[in-house]
Amino acid sequence: MIPSLIQETPAGLYCEIGDFYIDPSRRVPRAVVTHAHADHARPGSGKYLAAKEGQRILRHRLGPSADIEALPYGVTKLVNGVTLSFHPAGHILGSAQVRLEYRGEVWVVSGDYKTEPDTTCAAFESVRCHTFITESTFGLPIYRWPAQEEIFADINRWWRQCRDVGQPGVLLAYSLGKAQRLIAGVDPTIGPIYCHAAVQQLNEEYRASGIALPKTWLPAQAPARKDWGGVLIVTPPSTVHATWLSRFRNASVAMVSGWMLTRQTQKSRAVEIGFPLSDHADWPGLLKAIDETQAEQILVTHGQTEPMVRWLNENGKNARAVGPNDSQSSASFM
Ligand SMILES: [Zn+2]
Ligand SMILES: [Zn+2]
Repeated sequence: MIPSLIQETPAGLYCEIGDFYIDPSRRVPRAVVTHAHADHARPGSGKYLAAKEGQRILRHRLGPSADIEALPYGVTKLVNGVTLSFHPAGHILGSAQVRLEYRGEVWVVSGDYKTEPDTTCAAFESVRCHTFITESTFGLPIYRWPAQEEIFADINRWWRQCRDVGQPGVLLAYSLGKAQRLIAGVDPTIGPIYCHAAVQQLNEEYRASGIALPKTWLPAQAPARKDWGGVLIVTPPSTVHATWLSRFRNASVAMVSGWMLTRQTQKSRAVEIGFPLSDHADWPGLLKAIDETQAEQILVTHGQTEPMVRWLNENGKNARAVGPNDSQSSASFM
């Protein structure tokens, strides 16, 4: 029997010895937060502990009154006898895996992660442990990402085509993480890049955190502009039917999401083009990450838990599901 460093509770994953929750779903006295996405970092808790690299973004999300303590990657902190440290998860800026050690027993909570390189955040670090709690948003064998160089080449080709026929190109992308990765990865010599305010604010937080991004503008900063042909617009998916977008007449609209890998979702989202760039590990990425931890016990959460657990148990691992099985609906655009 493996001693339990983390329990499942109605408020989420709880470390009783250290008396703190990880990414709690409710307000709690002490929250350890893996990253600033809304389904992980919720306002209202008493104290927050998070990786220093994502501190500015978390502050932006939780507001000026949140009590946030920041710990750099790899630095340990003793919390009621539990040694805690953050390690890069490669998902968005500041995203962290949480490593807990108590009397020689090591548990790692992955948070969301991807194993592909990304110039806007530190690379995923493999951390050895006895128990690994892994996400499984794309935990099905059908999910295998094309090389990101190919995806960026496709996006640049589409943008050039838009420019050549005088069309604006709209990229629908989640405002935190995905948008900045796109802006950093496209070829800025094709044309100017405009952003929705929700994206632009986070661009500024990224720049202030030391991440280089090409220049981006708000549409309001170009009041005289009537012709938006050749311009790239990066905006959250929620704005697809907003009047905000209507100024960009006859735009070509593309969605950027791992879910775009399947034609079915492309159709249901009613966009012309889908680019399958994801900030989560694909199936081979998940399996490789799990393997490299050399963990004796795998706990699967956040996404396709059942198929992943079945596969792991059929392939010699000791795995089970924990937490709610939140499928596509809550993780749609990340
Ligand atoms: Zn996330
Ligand atoms: Zn998530």
